[in-house]
Amino acid sequence: MSLKILVLPGDGIGPEIIATAKQALEVLDAKLGLGLEINTKPIGFDALKESGATWSSDIEDACRKADGVIMGPTDTAAYPSPEEGGIGPSAAARKNLDLFANIRPSRSAIGMPALKTGVDLVIVRENTEGFYADRSLFFGGGEFMPTSELAMSVRKITKSASERIAHIAFQMAALRRKKVTVVHKANVLKMTCGMFLEAAEHIGKQYPDIEIDDVHVDAMASDLVRKPESFDVVLCSNMYGDILSNLAAEVTGGLGLAGSLNRGDSISLAQAAHGSAPDIAGQGIANPTSILRSTAMMLRDLAERRSENTLFAAAANLDEALDVMLTDEKTRTPDLGGSLSTSEFGKVLSIRLDTQQ
Ligand code: NAD
Repeated sequence: MSLKILVLPGDGIGPEIIATAKQALEVLDAKLGLGLEINTKPIGFDALKESGATWSSDIEDACRKADGVIMGPTDTAAYPSPEEGGIGPSAAARKNLDLFANIRPSRSAIGMPALKTGVDLVIVRENTEGFYADRSLFFGGGEFMPTSELAMSVRKITKSASERIAHIAFQMAALRRKKVTVVHKANVLKMTCGMFLEAAEHIGKQYPDIEIDDVHVDAMASDLVRKPESFDVVLCSNMYGDILSNLAAEVTGGLGLAGSLNRGDSISLAQAAHGSAPDIAGQGIANPTSILRSTAMMLRDLAERRSENTLFAAAANLDEALDVMLTDEKTRTPDLGGSLSTSEFGKVLSIRLDTQQ
């Protein structure tokens, strides 16, 4: 077996947390014989310095050639204009590589003070259109100002993208607790949310064993706090999924713990759910759990695509080692009351991975 993994460190805490993911993969490779070929390329400010742009078509080609990609967070808010080379890597990757599904699980953290226990849900978020100005038009941005005192934005919803993401939600539900909840605001956004909901209901008929219900997005914000344990797969358009996945992550233990996988038909791209945290960059205190959980998700996705048991084992090993470390305050980073630095966390994780059955 040979598996090409492309690593893109990113900005801020990106290089620090990505180093732990790379180290974990190397240990798993040596232990399980995964045949990994790991390559690293710069994106973000390092790439801007080197080649004049934070993201490029060369990086996109490298992603297409890889089996799996691990992308660190990027400090997009601090980028110069696109004309000066400031291109948002997340948006470019999701749109140009057609990574149409963003999978964001939230499970009550073991042994930690989660606001809610007994939660095990996954948010399936459409990733290529919706209320995102950088994604909603073929050319130009979806936000514009006809006058200095009037700003407008366009939301794009298509039947094909809505049906495609609905299939992913129902397929995931079939392997879980067999329930899909569609989030929308079709009482107000009758055409756009209406189309998203109708597409989900239409696709749902192909999965008669899966229960389907729907909730308005504002009601969902309270339901995720009040009764998050009642949800299994939560199907959302782009911005609703972005916002609600942060909420679900906090309810179950915190954003620093949440994994996130971007999937297309052939590419699997792991990303942390959080940003580049410029306020703590370089201090060695970032929690790498989110990118490590995402790396485990990528390994599991590659395992499913290839029906490869050693990759399933690698993903399970990584998740189990993280569960054990997070249960004990002594093996946590400072944000969770521990005292391990990011690199110390990586070292302890490597030892666990190397020695656990
Ligand atoms: P952020 O997620 O970077 O930080 C929010 C807070 O959480 C900060 O206090 C930070 O220190 C803390 N934090 C985040 N990750 C942490 C970790 N792993 N360990 C410990 N603490 C952590 O959000 P922000 O400050 O709104 O954004 C900073 C930059 O990141 C912006 O440029 C934004 O555009 C970008 N961003 C990038 C992505 C991405 O690349 N996918 C996602 C969100 C935000």
